[in-house]
Amino acid sequence: MSKKNTFRSSKRGVIRDPINPGMFNNMDIMFCCEQCSHFDPSNELCTIGYDASKHLRRVQMHFYKLSGRMAACRFQEID
Ligand code: SF4
Repeated sequence: MSKKNTFRSSKRGVIRDPINPGMFNNMDIMFCCEQCSHFDPSNELCTIGYDASKHLRRVQMHFYKLSGRMAACRFQEID
């Protein structure tokens, strides 16, 4: 008798939204943790507990150059 795994692994990845290149080049848009009030730059951590690794500047720029998309953090806060 085989045991079925009752937990399904999620195959969904982070959602990346398309960024208009004209807007990105001409406006000072907020798109990474380094611009957020909740970011601790000494440890590269989000102080409210979210996974900052997906929203770091170098990660965002990497995906933007590959696909024109970025993963916006819905909890980003700017002073
Ligand atoms: S709230 Fe979002 S953008 Fe701000 S530090 Fe945390 S993960 Fe980064």
